[in-house]
Amino acid sequence: MQIVYSDKEQFIFKKISKAAMELNVPAFLIGGFVRDKIIGRTTKDADIVCLGDGIALANKVAEKFHPKPYVSFFKNFGTAQIKIDEFEIEFVGARKESYNYESRNPVVEPGSLVDDQNRRDFTINALAVNLNENDYGILIDPFNGLHDIEQKIIQTPLDPLQTFSDDPLRMMRAIRFASQLDFLIEEKTFKAIIDNAERIKIISQERIADELNKIMLSPKPSVGLDLLSKSGLMQIIFPQMMALHGAEYVDGLGHKDNFYHTLQVIDNICANTNDLWLRWAALLHDIGKPPTKRFEEGHGWTFHGHEVVGARMVPKIFSKLKLPMNEKMKFVQKLVELHLRPISLTKENITDSAIRRLLFDAGEDIDALMLLCEADITSKNKQKVKRYLQNFELVRQRMKEVEEKDHLRNWQPPITGEMIMQTFGLEPGKNVGIIKDAIREAILDGIIPNSYEAAHQFMLQKAADLNLQPF
Ligand code: ATP
Repeated sequence: MQIVYSDKEQFIFKKISKAAMELNVPAFLIGGFVRDKIIGRTTKDADIVCLGDGIALANKVAEKFHPKPYVSFFKNFGTAQIKIDEFEIEFVGARKESYNYESRNPVVEPGSLVDDQNRRDFTINALAVNLNENDYGILIDPFNGLHDIEQKIIQTPLDPLQTFSDDPLRMMRAIRFASQLDFLIEEKTFKAIIDNAERIKIISQERIADELNKIMLSPKPSVGLDLLSKSGLMQIIFPQMMALHGAEYVDGLGHKDNFYHTLQVIDNICANTNDLWLRWAALLHDIGKPPTKRFEEGHGWTFHGHEVVGARMVPKIFSKLKLPMNEKMKFVQKLVELHLRPISLTKENITDSAIRRLLFDAGEDIDALMLLCEADITSKNKQKVKRYLQNFELVRQRMKEVEEKDHLRNWQPPITGEMIMQTFGLEPGKNVGIIKDAIREAILDGIIPNSYEAAHQFMLQKAADLNLQPF
């Protein structure tokens, strides 16, 4: 196996080789960098394991560069890092690990290269490349990781039950790699995940969220999400998602399986965006369906108000999953709440006012919302898909026309609450809100133009109705 390095990588690795020889500390490239090089994925950082003191080796390597890079290190962990341009290199001494049942943090002691490869999670992550003069560049592959990369298989080097029980985060990592790389998890390995699923409870929510986000950012998140579901992990970490499963039938009337529909919506949107939060909006767009599901006699299944209920569920889900409770959450919430609105604009005889309202409510997120709606079309009937997409194209066209006329994106009404209070000598209170809302509604409904003069005139009128006089 010939791994191809860039000139810069080659230059750096030769220096590491030299420093290792001078210290008489054998060094090896290991883990994700080797895996990704073989697969042909882009790499940005590399791990070096050495048979000795990793911090001392990092310092020796740093001396060989001009200017000398800064060496950051953690004495407790025996790890050190240097950065050359954008390339990060981490050094650590080879170690042997043993676990106790309560924690995923092992007891660590110095070990051999084999010990270090044994503690790796998957065969594809246990490959090493020798950086020492005599065997420079030789691949050390005790678990047939190369074969597994070629066959696209994820399996553990040692007994999977033990491997996952020792560190249950590895279950999320297995599924994440399957989703990122489009690899299959080997049967016994997957069975061991099912058997150990409950053990995920000892892992911190932050780490789980980190892996979940990596799944969400993979080319087809449906791969990872389906595996999370089938392994039993989803039920534990994100039960609201599992509630979307299943299609119920009454009197021959059924509804679609909302879990698989949602997975398809995510894959659809991923073809058009790398934005993690827009992908989350796709994941959560129908999350309000299970609690709103009803069977209406003679009509069939309905999910009335699921967008509102779903939007209300978003903060709770974000908080539980330890996702950021900031404007990203607000964005997801807004998209979940608005996701049916563009569909209602595909009907005939839609007024400018309805279009204006959506532009106002969606603000700068209107393009993201339209991407979500288009991704939400999962019909297998090609004619239908074509028709729906054409309808959305018409909505986009109408929005463009109204936008050009009224400039409603990021719009604020021309009269503020402050202005109303000043004009009528009012304290903050009910009347200020009434006038302000009336102006906004009048502009959105097209009763008055979107200008200061018209809004000012309208404000005077509205105030007169309320028996208010200018101050
Ligand atoms: P990515 O950079 O995409 O997260 P990676 O494989 O490089 O993938 P890191 O978390 O950087 O992941 O880990 C580097 C290497 O350390 C892995 O390739 C693997 O050999 C080992 N490793 C990481 N986490 C674990 C773990 N929980 N159990 C066992 N080995 C692990």
